[in-house]
Amino acid sequence: MLRETIRSLAEAKIAPHAAAVDEEARFPQEALDALVASDLHAVHVPEEYGGAGADALATVIVIEEVARVCASSSLIPAVNKLGSLPVILSGSEDLKKKYLGPLAKGDAMFSYALSEPDAGSDAAGMKTKAVRDGDFWVLNGVKRWITNAGESEYYTVMAVTDPEKRSKGISAFVVEKSDEGVSFGAPEKKLGIKGSPTREVYLDNVRIPADRMIGEEGTGFATAMKTLDHTRITIAAQALGIAQGALDYAKGYVQERKQFGKPIADFQGIQFMLADMAMKLEAARQLTYSAAAKSERVDGDLTFFGAAAKCFASDVAMEVTTDAVQLLGGYGYTRDYPVERMMRDAKITQIYEGTNQVQRIVMARNLP
Ligand SMILES: Cc1cc2nc3c(=O)[nH]c(=O)nc-3n(C[C@H](O)[C@H](O)[C@H](O)COP(=O)(O)OP(=O)(O)OC[C@H]3O[C@@H](n4cnc5c(N)ncnc54)[C@H](O)[C@@H]3O)c2cc1C
Repeated sequence: MLRETIRSLAEAKIAPHAAAVDEEARFPQEALDALVASDLHAVHVPEEYGGAGADALATVIVIEEVARVCASSSLIPAVNKLGSLPVILSGSEDLKKKYLGPLAKGDAMFSYALSEPDAGSDAAGMKTKAVRDGDFWVLNGVKRWITNAGESEYYTVMAVTDPEKRSKGISAFVVEKSDEGVSFGAPEKKLGIKGSPTREVYLDNVRIPADRMIGEEGTGFATAMKTLDHTRITIAAQALGIAQGALDYAKGYVQERKQFGKPIADFQGIQFMLADMAMKLEAARQLTYSAAAKSERVDGDLTFFGAAAKCFASDVAMEVTTDAVQLLGGYGYTRDYPVERMMRDAKITQIYEGTNQVQRIVMARNLP
């Protein structure tokens, strides 16, 4: 039922704008409005804080179905989970009440600010600092590549509170867009997910009350990593959706397109490509759903499964979307058809929330 609901909403209200959102590299406001109107913009927020209380698998299905028509728009539910999960996992009751309510209502979005210009894969090498000043913390630094920056009201920001301790000297904070000293860089000009703004966040003497710290001092990096164990599965979901969108389009196209006097779908060479695409996609889906169940139960092998699902599904999405372009021939290579957008959008799923090399490091360290 959930899939049917989100699929019909996505096809009616999000799909018609997907090409323009990409072409104009603009925020998909129509998608945000439609998702908020149906309470599907941040389904993971627990009911006690005014949310829909969707479990990890239901959240995956929402993201998957939005990504099937517009990958940029799928970052609304995905990044709302990414940004707010540190608060859900480690925040005080007061922080949860203050920040999850507006998120659940659709009054505010939540972003996640870990990466920096010189700290990507090695996120613990961050330089952003937070210095205690009485009942306040004062933050200074630059966060880079922050999804939905400028659009979101709230930001989970990881900052160094004790430079001697490296990852154990990092703490997490909630920063608000309206806090004095917060500003944003120009949107990055990207290969894909062009409708999702990616900007730098500048923190210039941002003075915030001490109770905005998420969890204890020094636990911010652990919270950031724990968050990714859960949210990598949402990137896997995004990858599945993008791949499914490309496969569905290609499947229809090969039945219409005629060469050598018959639909190209009649050629076994084409049928074998489609079979491989569907087989890999289904394998990725099963791994992702299994990882989502582990996320919900917080199983001991979640770290391996979260990394494996993200890595496998994103590699499959890259293969399937590239093959979809191939199946459309020259037409697939143009913006008159959606598969080239899907191929460009798929690429990011191999890079963010840890590159696929980093996922392999994580898997190797956590072999089941
Ligand atoms: C569109 C977009 C949106 C993003 N959104 C967010 C966001 O909302 N919040 C956020 O905090 N971050 C975000 N990121 C940042 C993203 O997570 C990083 O780009 C990513 O983790 C890689 O870091 P890097 O770009 O610095 O690459 P680098 O770390 O410099 O990596 C360069 C290459 O080296 C490889 N490499 C690095 N270390 C190793 C190693 N030990 N072994 C093998 N290979 C290695 C990498 O895999 C990669 O291929 C976003 C990025 C993009 C592009």
